[in-house]
Amino acid sequence: MLGYIRRRNKQAARPRAVTFPEAGARRSQKMPELPEVETTRRGLVPLVVGRRIATIDVYDPRLRWPVPADLGARSAGRVIEGLDRRSKYLLFRLGHGTLLVHLGMTGSLRAFSQAPPRRRHDHVDIVLDNGVTLRYHDPRRFGAMLWLPESGTAHRLLARLGPEPFDAAFDASYLWQSTRRRGAAIKLALMDNHLVVGVGNIYANESLFRAGIRPSTPANRISRQRLGRLVGEVQATLADAIAKGGSTLRDYVDSAGEPGYFQLDYFVYGREGTPCRVCRTAIRMRRMGGRATSYCPRCQR
Ligand SMILES: [Zn+2]
Repeated sequence: MLGYIRRRNKQAARPRAVTFPEAGARRSQKMPELPEVETTRRGLVPLVVGRRIATIDVYDPRLRWPVPADLGARSAGRVIEGLDRRSKYLLFRLGHGTLLVHLGMTGSLRAFSQAPPRRRHDHVDIVLDNGVTLRYHDPRRFGAMLWLPESGTAHRLLARLGPEPFDAAFDASYLWQSTRRRGAAIKLALMDNHLVVGVGNIYANESLFRAGIRPSTPANRISRQRLGRLVGEVQATLADAIAKGGSTLRDYVDSAGEPGYFQLDYFVYGREGTPCRVCRTAIRMRRMGGRATSYCPRCQR
């Protein structure tokens, strides 16, 4: 009984944000898309590259796929030679192997110079030789942490991915040629990882608005010139989000709160029924492939 009271008192003395982190997290949490993953990578690079992994502590291996039991044994003692990103996968280069991390729907990877007590949903700690701890937190556990041989390019998760949106290979000719036999809506094509990676729902909506293309337009009915414009707007939209993410980099280190995921001022995403920022026509919403699709009926043809 005494213990119970003491616990309650201790909780009552804590600030609200710490007492109820889950409720707050759920309200504010946005699924990490390519810009958030890239922001995480840029935040971690200066802390981890060149450091040696001391231990990996797996508290709960039940992610989207089980965390391999030998992950710690394979990784311990290895130097992190680089930290790359492919699509939404973070790839820690460890000499003859790669540690792959995916943040799933609700995952985050934060660095702590001194690890605080574990919270609920903290599943994995990667401890470096300088004492820095990378902590993987994921309430819904749709993320992944896997060991891939060598660079992992042959692994089933990576082998069939399309080009990165910032690759030179993703240009007007490529998009035109690869959509000539696709009668499906351009928005669905854009979100297909085999065509181009990392264009999630939000960024597909936004770049189609910026390119003036109606999301339901069959991909093979769009001219090469308009697809060229779309390529540019996909890149610009993602670059804007990554630039915005840069202002939140400090949130990835020694911060007790949720990751500093950020929001652009969207043109159409989540704005149905409100006036278009360009022409004042009401933004419309329909579902395509199960995902909310917003567009301006006047600006997008
Ligand atoms: Zn408009």
